[in-house]
Amino acid sequence: MEHVRDLTLLPKAHLHLHFTGSMRPSTLLELADKYGVRLPDALTAGEPPKLRATDERGWFRFQRLYDAARSCLREPDDIRRLVREAAEEDVRDGSGWLEIQVDPTSYAPLLGGMIPAVEIILDAVDSASRETGLGMRVVIAANRMKHPLDARTLARLAVRYGDRGIVGFGLSNDERRGMARDFDRAFAIAREGGLLAAPHGGELAGPASVRDCLDDLHASRIGHGVRAAEDPRLLQRLSDRQITCEVCPASNVALGVYERPEDVPLRTLFDAGVPMALGADDPLLFGSRLAAQYEIARRHHAFTDQELAELARQSVRASAAPEEVQAKLLAGIDHWLTG
Ligand SMILES: [Zn+2]
Repeated sequence: MEHVRDLTLLPKAHLHLHFTGSMRPSTLLELADKYGVRLPDALTAGEPPKLRATDERGWFRFQRLYDAARSCLREPDDIRRLVREAAEEDVRDGSGWLEIQVDPTSYAPLLGGMIPAVEIILDAVDSASRETGLGMRVVIAANRMKHPLDARTLARLAVRYGDRGIVGFGLSNDERRGMARDFDRAFAIAREGGLLAAPHGGELAGPASVRDCLDDLHASRIGHGVRAAEDPRLLQRLSDRQITCEVCPASNVALGVYERPEDVPLRTLFDAGVPMALGADDPLLFGSRLAAQYEIARRHHAFTDQELAELARQSVRASAAPEEVQAKLLAGIDHWLTG
């Protein structure tokens, strides 16, 4: 019988995980109880809600669930708990490096403003990292539904805290709204301040949204990016420039971007030489964490262990982890294959 390697032991970097979306379902229930928040049934049912974000109503419903969960994070202790548990879950899944994505604007009102919110989040990341041994950094994400001036303010704040653990700048929410170009100044501020540009694109909108991220925002990573699979020339471009797509297979299926796990174009991207970093996106809402994404590649796309190891290497190389951390993770990946 052939030996089946355990994917939770494969060292990897986790580059696409949203703050509230990383919460354990049991923690959400406890916090809702603590604050007397009545959660929508979809969040208490004990299984991932059925969502279809490919139409605007479905996306709106997804955002409403997300907002309900976020409304249960009110005190610094809640933030510390969320981050520590996210780190613990990641370690359990073989992650050796986590870049967690957050828009502090959403938490600022309850935490005393933007600066305190950022400081609380960064302190929580420091402690979680120390307690679990997991290397952790933060990607600050602007919201496309808000004014581009807000994004600029956020970019300046992110740059200012660059040496405290912020490594990237993102752009999230409905890709079908507004233009990436509206956020070009914010991204210029972030890039000039030494942050990597990692906007969402090519999830709800097609290849053009990925091109916009490259042309207008000079992205060095793309959140999702899977819809690039519809355009061979774009795939070639991503491959030539080694732009990593943070691909989240379970999320794509949960949100209806693809019907079934086997429809997510993992093979197309992999064979085209586009680097990928598999991510869980919002485990709270989609019901699966990091290792499960690699499991999808193995089970539904017949990735061999050599190929899974290569996926893990791609995630590490695309991370903002210091060289010595990357070297250690890459050695661990080799060991996973040969050990
Ligand atoms: Zn995302």
